[in-house]
Amino acid sequence: MSDEQESLVKARKIFERISEVFSEQDITPSPLNYQVWYEYFKGDKPQFRQEMDAILNDPFGYNDRTGRRLFDAHLKDEKPSSNLDRVFKRLLDAMVKKMSAWTDKLASQNQQLDDYALRLSEPNLDPEKLKALTDSILHTTRDLRHNSQDVQHDLVQASLEIQTLREQLIEARAESMQDELTELGNRKAFNIRLEELAEEFAEQPDQLHLILIDIDHFKSFNDRFGHLVGDSVLRYFANLLRNKQRPKNVLCRYGGEEFAIIMNDSSLEQAQDCAEKLRTALKQAKLKRRGTNEVLPEITASFGIAQYRAGEQLDNFVARADEMLYKAKQTGRDQVITEFDTPAS
Ligand code: GH3
Ligand code: MG
Ligand code: MG
Repeated sequence: MSDEQESLVKARKIFERISEVFSEQDITPSPLNYQVWYEYFKGDKPQFRQEMDAILNDPFGYNDRTGRRLFDAHLKDEKPSSNLDRVFKRLLDAMVKKMSAWTDKLASQNQQLDDYALRLSEPNLDPEKLKALTDSILHTTRDLRHNSQDVQHDLVQASLEIQTLREQLIEARAESMQDELTELGNRKAFNIRLEELAEEFAEQPDQLHLILIDIDHFKSFNDRFGHLVGDSVLRYFANLLRNKQRPKNVLCRYGGEEFAIIMNDSSLEQAQDCAEKLRTALKQAKLKRRGTNEVLPEITASFGIAQYRAGEQLDNFVARADEMLYKAKQTGRDQVITEFDTPAS
């Protein structure tokens, strides 16, 4: 599928999911509301998403007024930036055109009926004219019914499709937050979850730790055994992460051979312990090449841990963990370094 086709499929799914929410929650299907909900489903503006979640949790929920406020605050000056945005905008324009065509047609037919009614009330209408007039009325009424049946048909059709698309859309959203190779959260998921957890732990920053992990000498491993074997090592490590973690921990593939764990509700010792366990588990793994059963050399990783400081910029929090990871690399790799075990210099 081309990028354009893929965007079209995605945009349609989002479009239909929104139509479903609108009919469930009785929201006006206006272009503005569509744009607000589109942004929500796309999910890449954490601040916007949080505000919207708060609104949805409010007993009064979403309405045209809150929609307008969100639109003005976050979306008013936005230009479509991605292929998906552009395709969605096109769908929206097409919908608006179709709706205004319906409304125009219905309005003009109503106008016609009004005219006929006026003429019917003229005095001394001759039988010929009367017959012509009643024929026209019959014709217009039939047309009108036909049109509203079309609208009805479109709506029924849409809601049937929506039923089946609903699940797919939820999946699509999850997929857009998931790394394909390892099925861990991706960088986008990382950013969103980190922001949420930083807020949640604002009062107990010492319970929030970030562990950044980077596989050692992975380039030469790839060079020696090939990218596909490299990929299976990344998957293996992702499984180790999944198996050795409390469900609460947020696990992400941060980049190529870099991973991140956001440990929430845990002490520094727990974070260190978690990293140590992973480090040894990876080092001790006896990996074999599939097919040939050739034993692969030991693989190690370096770990950097930082503890959250209330109110700090999240970029800074990540940079501090990265600095510890860098130190771990510089001072021999295959080790865990935290801010607390390096002497202040
Ligand atoms: P260091 O110990 O300093 O981290 O050395 P390194 O070789 O691991 O680091 P470097 O940043 O030089 O190289 C990272 C390598 O990771 C290069 C790239 O081939 C590999 N890599 C990144 N993403 C993937 C991937 O998705 N699959 C595979 N197989 N390799 C990847
Ligand atoms: Mg790296
Ligand atoms: Mg590396």
